[in-house]
Amino acid sequence: MDSVEVPHVVGRLAPSPTGAQHVGNARTYLIAWLAARSRGGRVILRIEDIDSPRVKPGAAELACADLRWLGLDWDDGPVVQSRRLELYEAALVALRERELVYPCTCSRSDVERAASAPHVENEGPVYPGTCSARRAADAAGLAGVPYAWRFRVPSRPVAFVDGFRGPVELDLREIGGDFVVWKSAGTPAYQLAVVVDDAAQEVTEVVRGDDLVASTPRQLLLYAALGLRPPAFTHVPLVVGPDGRRLAKRHGDTRLAALRAAGVQAPALLGLLAWSCGWIDQPRPVGVRDLLSVYRLQSIPREPFALRPELLRLIGYG
Ligand SMILES: [Zn+2]
Repeated sequence: MDSVEVPHVVGRLAPSPTGAQHVGNARTYLIAWLAARSRGGRVILRIEDIDSPRVKPGAAELACADLRWLGLDWDDGPVVQSRRLELYEAALVALRERELVYPCTCSRSDVERAASAPHVENEGPVYPGTCSARRAADAAGLAGVPYAWRFRVPSRPVAFVDGFRGPVELDLREIGGDFVVWKSAGTPAYQLAVVVDDAAQEVTEVVRGDDLVASTPRQLLLYAALGLRPPAFTHVPLVVGPDGRRLAKRHGDTRLAALRAAGVQAPALLGLLAWSCGWIDQPRPVGVRDLLSVYRLQSIPREPFALRPELLRLIGYG
């Protein structure tokens, strides 16, 4: 009997419960969901809740409700990061054993004061390497001093092919420098937790907003360091306000919960988002499953989608 190879696609939705999900998040989740489902793939839901001081009570449940309202379903999860700390710890141990990380006792203000290079937007100052002469074993002599673990970045750029943007090359020495994989508070940093989870859940394709493009070279380094196979990465343009700036409170309340409470119907929002992605020629109500056949990643405009008030009024909001 001949067996036909079925493409094995696993995508994921990974809301962070540090706040409510807004229209911009919805557009990215829709793209990520369609990227997997349009090829018969599976979808995993993960709650990225290790950024604990900023995690808001009830936000994870609200994110799940938002996704369900949109009609974006999942096969596995929610996988909750705060219940998986021992897996991240094991990855840190592996990095320490390979001398790929070192203990850093610098505070945020130490780094800001010592950094000479200009900041790249959203990335903060370049870590100047103050503690990079340390070996992993030196952590034992730091009793009582809080320290983070930093990953040594290579002295060459990291290149990858983005599913939307094409070839990307980023030099981490210019964006952030050696990066934190374990915070001084004793919790894993986003970069490490995401790599451990995506590998454990056999995610084959990460589709996310292009504000995270600078995370990808860091994560690729961690995959290589941990001997894990990386997924494909696709970064899509964000939703911005009418002023071209990232969607924020000053642009009005674009939280999905607020839209729901105002009586906006999910198909109306889906239609607006599908139109913004170039999949339908008018922003008319559609169901999420109607989009499976018209989804095309490359028809999404290269520019961010400007969410103007008249577009929200069109779907019955404001
Ligand atoms: Zn340091």
